[in-house]
Amino acid sequence: MSPTAAPDQLATPYAGPPLPGVVEDLVVPGVLDDEIDERLWVPQAPGVHFRPLLLNVTQGYWVNILRVRRSGILSRHRHAGPVHAITLAGRWHYLEHDWWAETNSYAFEPPGDIHTLEVPEDCEEMRTLFHVSGAYIYVDTDGNPVGVEDVFSKLEATRRHYASQDLGTDIVEGMIR
Ligand code: FE
Repeated sequence: MSPTAAPDQLATPYAGPPLPGVVEDLVVPGVLDDEIDERLWVPQAPGVHFRPLLLNVTQGYWVNILRVRRSGILSRHRHAGPVHAITLAGRWHYLEHDWWAETNSYAFEPPGDIHTLEVPEDCEEMRTLFHVSGAYIYVDTDGNPVGVEDVFSKLEATRRHYASQDLGTDIVEGMIR
């Protein structure tokens, strides 16, 4: 078969069977809306919430929006996998690096990087979409592990919060792949 489709074939959907083992795709509307149901934000710490979009337990990563409405140090952590961050509002930085994550910016955090997240005092709210693989390993100033967070702890926290808010189970179960 020629790899180049004739123009009149381009708008024709695939008619064959699905490939074996393909999981369901996922679409989440309104991810940038400020007006979404507040109950979808899962409390993480005072002034800190996350809104999960995809919890991928088969590949060990999750996609979520982190919302921080307080300034100061959020956490010191080491990454066991890569992180992609798109800052949607506000600004933040890591004490160990000289770059700032500003609104509309993209940042890549490599596995193994150890850094301390700070939201500056003049930032009322920061919102960042994080694609996190592996785990956050929370560490002390010497790098000793003091805690861990991964897609499974995110799933557990989301299930618990959504149940407490009478959101049912369909929303959270629908995020799992
Ligand atoms: Fe990080």
